[in-house]
Amino acid sequence: MPCYRCGTRQVDPDRGESPWKRGVRGDRQVLICPGCQAAFDWMADLDRCPVCAGIRLMRRLGEVECRDCGSVGQPIAAADVGDADGGGSPGLAEEVELALARVLGKARRPAGIG
Ligand SMILES: [Zn+2]
Ligand SMILES: [Zn+2]
Repeated sequence: MPCYRCGTRQVDPDRGESPWKRGVRGDRQVLICPGCQAAFDWMADLDRCPVCAGIRLMRRLGEVECRDCGSVGQPIAAADVGDADGGGSPGLAEEVELALARVLGKARRPAGIG
């Protein structure tokens, strides 16, 4: 599988772990090459775990498993976050907001105070 962004093909390292990162983006398993990791904010581009907001997700049949916390379910799509007041389906936006609130521990206090 090539890098989803630049199309570079993955090469197996002689030893040790591959520097390539895995993730889920737009409901699909993707790979990010080391060059693209350095070139842009690839983490912001990936779907996130609704529980721990991690990006180490594994695509399964109809679901996504988080390799950090082990939760299985639907990830928060990166494309849906940040478009909260742009219309779309109200149910989904609400779900995302609830999930984010859970992730952030209901921290509603603005930064800079305290
Ligand atoms: Zn790349
Ligand atoms: Zn998680």
